[in-house]
Amino acid sequence: MRAYVFLGPPGAGKGTMASMLSEAHGLAHISTGDILRREIRKHSDLGAQAKAYMEPGQLVPDNVVASIVEQTLAAEKIRRSGFILDGYPRTVRQAELLDESLGRQAMHIDAVVLLDADRELLKRRLSARRVCTGCGAVFNVLFGPPKTEGVCDHCAGELAQRDDDRPETIEQRLEVYDRQTAPLIEFYERRGNLRRVDASGSREANLAALRQVLELDA
Ligand code: AMP
Repeated sequence: MRAYVFLGPPGAGKGTMASMLSEAHGLAHISTGDILRREIRKHSDLGAQAKAYMEPGQLVPDNVVASIVEQTLAAEKIRRSGFILDGYPRTVRQAELLDESLGRQAMHIDAVVLLDADRELLKRRLSARRVCTGCGAVFNVLFGPPKTEGVCDHCAGELAQRDDDRPETIEQRLEVYDRQTAPLIEFYERRGNLRRVDASGSREANLAALRQVLELDA
């Protein structure tokens, strides 16, 4: 069983890379952002609570996300397949809670990958991102456009911009990353399991670099 954490600023491509790798290697892709957006679409209490933080680009409280992750990791299927945590942990407190949770379930993280790119590129990627309102597939009008503008290649659903991909919110999310998430780089570096990947290339180039640091076959 292999377990990885993908760390990095918004726009680095954590979700895209995690979804490509999970598909190719049979790993579960656990994205706290996707789980929270699903709760918002379901109009659940959790969704309503999360929305108030997500819309302005703030982090959802640690205990809320930690309990979602704990429940997700407890699933037998995930324990068998291994997993990629995409967008969790995002604070030092979350990293501590993750350690406790993994310890209780006799699991551990094999590697933490830091995906990073230049700020201007991150902003360009985020403002050009479009997400399918039907199946959730992610496109980028600059770097990976759909075959037909505004239409999902996979399910023909309508593509839309995420509420938190608007310019003011992008700035806010990058600030939140610097203040609350970037300290995790040192946290994991001290443990000796941090690996860095330059995520400023094409999807294919970034995927190849990621496979190389994780020693995964193509
Ligand atoms: P993402 O899809 O990873 O960019 O996450 C979108 C938003 O969901 C973030 O800006 C946060 O508001 C919320 N979120 C996702 N993961 C976490 C987390 N680990 N801790 C707190 N908030 C999170």
